[in-house]
Amino acid sequence: TVRTRFAPSPTGFIHLGNIRSALYPWAFARANDGVFILRIEDTDLERSSQAAVDVILEGMRWLGLDHDEGPYYQMQRMDRYKEVLAQMLEQGLAYRCYMSSAELDALRERQMAAKQKPRYDGTWRPEPGKTLPPVPEGVQPVIRFKSPVGGTVAWDDKVKGRIEFSNEELDDLVIARPDGTPTYNFCVVVDDIDMGITHVIRGDDHVNNTPRQIHIFRALGQEPPVYAHLPTVLNEQGEKMSKRNGAKPVTQYRDEGFLPEAMVNYLARLGWSHGDDEIFTREQFLQWFDLDHLGKSAGQYDEAKLRWVNAQHIKRTGDAELAPLVRGQLGQRGIEVPAGFPLEQAVALFKDRCATTVELAEWLSMYFVDAQPSAEDLAQHVTPAVRPALAALAERLLALPGWDKAGIAAALKATLGEQGLKMPQLAIPVRVLVCGRAQTPSVDAVLELFSKEKVAKLLQGA
Ligand code: GLU
Repeated sequence: TVRTRFAPSPTGFIHLGNIRSALYPWAFARANDGVFILRIEDTDLERSSQAAVDVILEGMRWLGLDHDEGPYYQMQRMDRYKEVLAQMLEQGLAYRCYMSSAELDALRERQMAAKQKPRYDGTWRPEPGKTLPPVPEGVQPVIRFKSPVGGTVAWDDKVKGRIEFSNEELDDLVIARPDGTPTYNFCVVVDDIDMGITHVIRGDDHVNNTPRQIHIFRALGQEPPVYAHLPTVLNEQGEKMSKRNGAKPVTQYRDEGFLPEAMVNYLARLGWSHGDDEIFTREQFLQWFDLDHLGKSAGQYDEAKLRWVNAQHIKRTGDAELAPLVRGQLGQRGIEVPAGFPLEQAVALFKDRCATTVELAEWLSMYFVDAQPSAEDLAQHVTPAVRPALAALAERLLALPGWDKAGIAAALKATLGEQGLKMPQLAIPVRVLVCGRAQTPSVDAVLELFSKEKVAKLLQGA
């Protein structure tokens, strides 16, 4: 079975570029009846926080990126890493290195002066027939991995194609610090082995770690997984997306009125394609997703495009599903929808012109908070000449036996005939007074959702 993972470091909030690295492994697992694992890489104690973990979990839950196993926390697996370290020492796959940091610095300086790439020189690396220096007193050793010498290491990356590194470039990696704590690349490999990961799908900032990780896999007697390294996501300025240059936390998009289905659609297209399909459902995405159509070039975030995608999904989403989201957005604005208000009908009337549920809530707020027409609109549209018509319309509306679209349309028509006006000459001032805007959907449908008395009062107030 396919087993994939998302392995975020909980250092600061998670943005769109980060969560895309969760979307693809999740989709690949789902598309292949596989298992998706969440692993929190929290070994950087100074920069990791529970708050950041919470945002990761919340963002994934919101987008529906459900995991089958985990979250595992690396900090809770320390005993396991130490066990593997001991085993590697025992088997001669790793060794203790007593070179002090002062010695290391001196070595690096000599190499730089000789125009060589700084690398560990293997002083403490055991070889058959080699005598190691005497162990100095009082130095806590690091543990180094005995990396293969000579030759190359290569893999067929699902995104980037064949990648090859010369082993010359890889010196003996420190896998445990002087205090015995394991280092990053080592933990990742132990985890990927223990968790049975078959496909590693992650950001291409890890390409340089991969050859080292592959060597550790092989040393531990395992074949490395399939790798797919995703190109970065750029922000609108063309820089690598990061929280330092304005990226938003994923959950902020929920607050700004984006639908999870639209976010998944947008993120999916930010590094993968299915022909010319731009708008698709979660189900279609899972049916279509494959590693072969991951893009080779960086995806660039484009908020206007995201808003367009969201608008398409709002159009396609049922009113009953949108209504609670809009209710929530209205609640954020301090508006409680009164019982009996036909919220779904209102959503249906306005949703085609909205890119977000926040915009929908902005439209619908006119039903709950008195409109504040602008002075320009009033001056331009609610002229003295039209006032008698507005008063006559108010009378007609109040006299209607019931309150529905057809009755309202008839009252408008009768008033137009009587006053010798054309529809826009009456409908626009009505909109300005009742809705606070000169443009709305069909005026009879919009008025129907107000109470008769409120409409008449606003028209008479003119
Ligand atoms: N923790 C790493 C990161 O946040 C990901 C490691 C991996 O996927 O192998 O970038």
